[in-house]
Amino acid sequence: MIFSTNKQGDDCCMTQPNSEVKCPTCNKKSKGVLAKTLKALLTDKSKSKLSCFSGFYYCTTPSCKTIYFREETTLTQKDMITVVGLKDGAISATVCYCFGWTKEKIKAALEDTGKTIALEDIKAKMNNDGCVCEVLNPSGRCCLSDVSNAIKEITKQNIQ
Ligand SMILES: [Zn+2]
Repeated sequence: MIFSTNKQGDDCCMTQPNSEVKCPTCNKKSKGVLAKTLKALLTDKSKSKLSCFSGFYYCTTPSCKTIYFREETTLTQKDMITVVGLKDGAISATVCYCFGWTKEKIKAALEDTGKTIALEDIKAKMNNDGCVCEVLNPSGRCCLSDVSNAIKEITKQNIQ
């Protein structure tokens, strides 16, 4: 455990978690997120209740209401300034937060033309403008695997 007093609200109480920890709500393994991701995506009200933002994990289970957790603390959609697209019932079901790709948009393209340029578009923009997944994507990670999974999932649904 590393304590740092000069970076209040950032990495003040814990090192970045590397291990996977089980969500207290759904019991599925979750990956750690950076303090800067929470700082960027939580509401002011929710931030005011936390002494620091490090040591949180991100639950990706669609049916689970918990988005972030740290020991006994759980945060849900009401604590967020952005809609977490992978949770059940999310509107819009955003998959790429940097360039605004949603499952709705991908689905519409697949239904109209049988293909989507989502991946190509994201890759091209990442090269030109760069991406800011760390502060826009609730997972704090690159969205490319989420986008390709979404395309596969929607393609499968359309075939059935
Ligand atoms: Zn969960």
